[in-house]
Amino acid sequence: MVRESALRFGAQTDEVTSLLRIVNMVRTGEATTRPEIGRLTGLGRGVVTQRVEAAIAMGFLEDGAFGPSSGGRAPRTLGFRSDRGLIVVCALGALHIHVGLASLDGVIIAQDHRAWEIVRGPAETLEATIAMVEKLLATTDGRPVWAVTVGVPGPVDFESGTVVAPPIMPGWNGFDVRRRFEQHFQAPVWVDNDVNILALAERVHRRDDAIDLIYLKVGTGIGAGLLSHGHLHRGANGAAGDIGHVRVGDSEVICRCGKIGCLEAEAGGWALVRDAERAIGDGAVGVLKTHHDAGEQLTPELICVSARDGDALAIALVQRSARLVGESIAALVNMFNPSVIVIGGAMAGAGEIYLAGVRQRVYELSLPLATRDLVIQPSNNDVAEPLLGGAELAIEQLFDVTFPRWFASGVPTIERVRAA
Ligand SMILES: [Zn+2]
Repeated sequence: MVRESALRFGAQTDEVTSLLRIVNMVRTGEATTRPEIGRLTGLGRGVVTQRVEAAIAMGFLEDGAFGPSSGGRAPRTLGFRSDRGLIVVCALGALHIHVGLASLDGVIIAQDHRAWEIVRGPAETLEATIAMVEKLLATTDGRPVWAVTVGVPGPVDFESGTVVAPPIMPGWNGFDVRRRFEQHFQAPVWVDNDVNILALAERVHRRDDAIDLIYLKVGTGIGAGLLSHGHLHRGANGAAGDIGHVRVGDSEVICRCGKIGCLEAEAGGWALVRDAERAIGDGAVGVLKTHHDAGEQLTPELICVSARDGDALAIALVQRSARLVGESIAALVNMFNPSVIVIGGAMAGAGEIYLAGVRQRVYELSLPLATRDLVIQPSNNDVAEPLLGGAELAIEQLFDVTFPRWFASGVPTIERVRAA
């Protein structure tokens, strides 16, 4: 039986600490049997048995099949009850909404996607998002929602769950995204920048909880997510990694953020489209001009495809973007010393042409020690990445960050998760 007095909410006794550790060991696969838990924790057999029974009684763990025998009686395996709750994941893009449901182990069990312009503002956009989620929930077995994560294409104050001065999201400044979702789902909600969420997805793929990684997204805009020893570095206000608005060289171009000479105003997808149109106006010929003359709208994706097809104008634009991005990221490499830089977003669609340009400038401009073991790789560029990363964010917040606050009630509630 669980002794409520000892497992009181917030009571960080040794008993609680070991109980939470055991649940997490089974959850992450670090240990799957009672003897293994004993070996890894150094706790005696009796104590392990008590803690495991408590975790089973609280609904976090369950007994599974008998494991392989090592001579004597085979120990029974333990499993984490990943089916007890659902994680709702929402990924808002500039031009789409992607939602999904995940079980507590991060497996995506349902998803939906639609085209949508985020400039329609927060009220309409979040209403549409919630409607998509409700449609998915109607197809499930009625499991409760344990957590919601929302990724947005702009700066987020992670502590308050509000969007702050987003350049491409008019009407969203200061909007309390977290409250809107908490009111609807009655579950704890975390809101983060979309690039941070993509960095978390990389941590899942690489199965490396201590990785030093930069996820660089070069799409219409440019942003970076930083994992320092496996932990997202959000900075004091959530603005860390906003590399798209660092000044490059002596550029005089006006950025959509209002400043002059930002990296994305020279090297972002929207800047490339602008430069392509200008070059065509000035008489450039080739594949891009043909598309343009046929009335097609030029996009970063089209520029990348044309570059791969050998179009001279597209190649020049892509190479210039890669060079500028490489120069900006080189400063970050010297400061931060990552082991991996992952390049995603529409511009990564240009493939090796882009990566080679970035690599060249990073290796030229960074210190030898900082680049000795550095790898620069393309992302998977899979549309499901934001869902994987969003589920990972919820799992981290539930079981690493806030677990001691809510575990005693067996279910995460907004009140308990937020209690400091
Ligand atoms: Zn800017």
